[in-house]
Amino acid sequence: MSEEEQKQRKKRKKKKQLTTLENQKAESELLPRLVDALDELEKEKKYVDVQVCPKCKSPLVQRAGSMAGDMSAHLGFTPPKYECRECGWRERTVLKATNKPTTIREVVIMAEAKDTDIERKRKKKN
Ligand SMILES: [Zn+2]
Repeated sequence: MSEEEQKQRKKRKKKKQLTTLENQKAESELLPRLVDALDELEKEKKYVDVQVCPKCKSPLVQRAGSMAGDMSAHLGFTPPKYECRECGWRERTVLKATNKPTTIREVVIMAEAKDTDIERKRKKKN
């Protein structure tokens, strides 16, 4: 293989990695619409809580409906689980976007702070 060929291969590899990173950063397309909707409601002095996914901030979060999950929740072993229909995220806790005292922007910042916290704890363990 010539030197020129090797250089071109390296370039191509780098480009591919960059596109993957951009995809991972993507947030829910519904987030700006949710922010707008909350702003509108605030103007009408209607205050609501909306459940949002801590990962992609999508409002399409629902209670996970598996039989096993429901059963243990009824027995009081585990709290109900939530799942995101957009990114597939599953957790026992769910973020709440609200236009009450905190704005959705603050909720998003809080979610990002929480992520960093989890990341820090993980590093400590290893
Ligand atoms: Zn999500």
